[in-house]
Amino acid sequence: MANAQYILALDLGTTGNRAILFDRNGDIAGQAYKELTQYYPQPGWLEHDPREIWDDIQWAIQAAIQKASINPAAIAAIGLTVQRETCLLWDKNSGRPLHNAIVWQDRRTASICNDLRDQGLATEIADRTGLVLDAYFSATKLQWLLDAVQTHQQDPPIDLDDVLAGTVDSWVLWNLTGRKVHATDDSNASRTMLLNLTSRQWDEKLLDLFNIPAHLMPEIRPSLGHFGHTDADILGAEIPIMAVFGDQQAALFAHGCNRPGLLKCTYGTGAFLVAHTGSEVARSQNQLLSTVAWSEADNGSSKVGYALEGSMFTAGACIQWLRDGIKLITTAADTEASAEKVPDNGGVYFVPALSGLGAPHWDMTARGAFLGITGGVQREHMIRAVLEAIAYQVNEVVEAVNEDSGTRIKLLKVDGGACQNDFLMQFQADVLGIPIERPAVLDATAQGAAFGAGLAAGYWHSYDDLIQNRKINRVFEPGAAASQAQENFHMWQKAVARAKNWVE
Ligand code: ADP
Repeated sequence: MANAQYILALDLGTTGNRAILFDRNGDIAGQAYKELTQYYPQPGWLEHDPREIWDDIQWAIQAAIQKASINPAAIAAIGLTVQRETCLLWDKNSGRPLHNAIVWQDRRTASICNDLRDQGLATEIADRTGLVLDAYFSATKLQWLLDAVQTHQQDPPIDLDDVLAGTVDSWVLWNLTGRKVHATDDSNASRTMLLNLTSRQWDEKLLDLFNIPAHLMPEIRPSLGHFGHTDADILGAEIPIMAVFGDQQAALFAHGCNRPGLLKCTYGTGAFLVAHTGSEVARSQNQLLSTVAWSEADNGSSKVGYALEGSMFTAGACIQWLRDGIKLITTAADTEASAEKVPDNGGVYFVPALSGLGAPHWDMTARGAFLGITGGVQREHMIRAVLEAIAYQVNEVVEAVNEDSGTRIKLLKVDGGACQNDFLMQFQADVLGIPIERPAVLDATAQGAAFGAGLAAGYWHSYDDLIQNRKINRVFEPGAAASQAQENFHMWQKAVARAKNWVE
């Protein structure tokens, strides 16, 4: 396409859906974002409406195109990146979802996991998938959904031959391609707990174990490669979809972390520290996950890279809760000024276990807590305690990565919505005792999807050049408050110990 001048990244996040147009210099030419409704039907449950995701992303695409004042035909390729593990079932004839999507943070299947653990299956599942047996991943959610839609039979009853299953990438890809392509990529597949990490095929034994018919599952393709093109009725042009990534893997790609020793931390709804480990699966001794980084089409076959990951379920989600749940703040950005109004946390510690605890604890029964409250504690101390907790949990995972690798991380590259917060970044540098490097484009997730699609489409030619041209916004060095922050970390760990094993 001679006049194709842009790459469109679609970032289907947990908090919201975003479309961003990148130009040839990698700069943002136009973007649009809409926050997504979060449904909490019961404590510990979280759902999204798949139709809202599809409607919002269509709106965002049109709005981004209008803002950049371009013709859709000027888009060379699309890259898709999505919240991972969140999954759904839909009817392939009507296009209707059979139930709301169950979001990755949802804990409703904790008892299914406990039963499997009691049957002694945790080690085998970890060996096959690289994952810790936990309600976080898609397998038990899909099992629950299949049970639910078959138990509450509709009229006419559901015929499983008409049903498709998938994560959010598969749902949006299927819709974008005019219901033609039912596929996913290796990075998203590796989060379902149904992928055999070594063969990179759906694991038949696990499909049987979770009662998921194989024909419901999407085809697995390389993350960078041709996934089909958009239906002309949707965008007004047939545009190739050239990359699909899980959000954390897309951010890893954007940071240039393509070989062992390189890592990043994304502060979005959750916080995710991901380290590239090369072309072989690496296993952690410290409760980190083994996962696919991304794969690339390579003359009819594919090349793959793997990663180790520390997944922390609630980071920005605690800030959303301060805003929407207990209404201590009006906007997420308010937290920064509030935290800076007080000289310290006033002895208050927050445990960010609103959806249980992920790495390195993996405790589905933990719940959020404030500890250390005395009469003098003010709203600002509580807000500051929440920001500090985000940094403490990242510190815990960095310690796990340091132990696994036998060397100490010297610098942390960051991205994601919550890393706009200067207080949080400075406190993070203080508690870690190492510099934090914040890029100019904080949407590394979308940027990674754009880089992947643009490279796969031949729009860009050099990954190294793209990475070298990325600009740094600011480096946060550990400051005078570092030793106090590191001391307080141990108090926070005491608070975490109290919040564990909470719900029955
Ligand atoms: P996701 O991709 O998971 O949807 P994003 O990277 O878009 O997440 O980041 C959104 C999150 O960032 C929200 O949870 C929001 O509360 C948080 N956030 C946004 N701005 C700030 C800020 N200034 N300080 C702290 N958190 C913030």
